[in-house]
Amino acid sequence: MYACASYAGANPNSLHTPGREAARALEGARKEISQLLGGSARPSELIFTSGGTEADNLAVIGLSEAVRMQRGARDAVVISAIEHEAVLACAPELRRRGFEVRIAASSCRGIIEPAALESTLDERCALVSIMTANNETGMVQPIAELAAAAHAHGALFHTDAVQAFTRIPLSAGPVDALSISAHKVGGPVGIGALYLKTGIRLQPLLHGGGQERGLRPGTQNVSGALAFAAAAQASACAHRVHADALRVRSSMLVEKLVLADLGICPTVDAAYDGGRLPGTVHIAVSGIEAGAVLLRLDAAGFAISSGSACSAGSRDSSHVLSAMGVPRERSLGALRISFDERVSDSELSAFADALIGCVGSLRR
Ligand code: PLP
Repeated sequence: MYACASYAGANPNSLHTPGREAARALEGARKEISQLLGGSARPSELIFTSGGTEADNLAVIGLSEAVRMQRGARDAVVISAIEHEAVLACAPELRRRGFEVRIAASSCRGIIEPAALESTLDERCALVSIMTANNETGMVQPIAELAAAAHAHGALFHTDAVQAFTRIPLSAGPVDALSISAHKVGGPVGIGALYLKTGIRLQPLLHGGGQERGLRPGTQNVSGALAFAAAAQASACAHRVHADALRVRSSMLVEKLVLADLGICPTVDAAYDGGRLPGTVHIAVSGIEAGAVLLRLDAAGFAISSGSACSAGSRDSSHVLSAMGVPRERSLGALRISFDERVSDSELSAFADALIGCVGSLRR
C-alpha cells in the first residue's frame, strides 16, 4: 500500500505536497500506536526510534542524564536483574558517565517485588527501569506499584514493554517512559518507539536535525511507522480475542509435559496473580542441554528457543534464571516456547509429543 502511495519515499519534513502527505501519514501512525498504550497516552508523547534497543538506550541514558542536569545530586540508576540486554548493557555506559548503577533483585518467581525495589531507592535515585514482561519467562511485573515506589522517592520510572505491547493491556498512566518495538508485534525490524510523558525531560543521544522534537533526530521511517501501526492494531485485536484461550492452552501444554514424568518442569509459577504473557511457556529439562533438544525439534519442524533469542549463541546459562536462583544445571536445560492463535490444538499436541519423545530418547 505504501509503495503505491503518492507520498512513497517522500521526506515527511519537506514542505512540498508529497512531503506533507507523508507527514500526515506518519502522524496517523503515531496516533494509532499511542491509542494502544492505554487511555492517557497522546500521539505527541510518542518518539519513533530504530527499534526497542534504541528506545531502551534513549530512555535509560537520556532520562538519567536529564535528571542529573536538573537535579545534580541524583546520580544513581536502578535497573532490575532480569532486564533485556538492551537495558542491562546500558549499565557500563552509565558507570562510565559517573552514575551509580543499582540492581533490583528478582524473586524466585521471576518477579521484581516492590519491597525489593524499595531497598534500592533513596534520594539519590534519578531513574528506575523495570520491564513490563520478561522476554524469557513471560512473567508480568507489578508496574503500577513499582512506578509508585520510584515516584515516592522522586525518581522517574521507565519500562521496557517490548514483549508486553499488544499482548496484554498496557497503561502508560503510571510510567514516565515506555519502550516498544515493531518486530515483536508482527511488524518490520528496524522501527520502534519511546513513549515519553509530557513534561518529562530527555537528553537526546543522537545529534542532527530537529525531527521527533529534537529528541531523536534523523529522517523518519514513514513506511516502517505505517507497517508498525498496522501490525500493532492487528496483534492487539487478535490478543483481545485469543489471550484467555492461549493461557488455558499454555497450562494444558505444561501439564502434559510434566505428566510425562521425564523431568520436564515449568520454571515459573503459573499461579501468580499478575499473570504471564499469553502463549509463552517456559520449562526446564533437568540434566539435558537445551541445545540438544532444540536441534532435534528443529529437525522435526518445530522452532523454539533456549532462553532469550536475542542472546542465542551464548552458552552461558540465562541471567534471568540465575537471578531467580534456578541452579545452573537446570537452567542449561531451559526452553522457551511461544505460540499464538495460528497454532492449532493438533499442532500443539504434536509438538508436545515430539518434545516428550525427544527428551525420552535423550534420557535413554
Ligand atoms: N527488550 C525486550 C524485552 C526484547 O525482547 C527485545 C528484543 O527481543 C528488545 C528489547 C530489543 O528490541 P529490538 O530488537 O527492536 O531492538
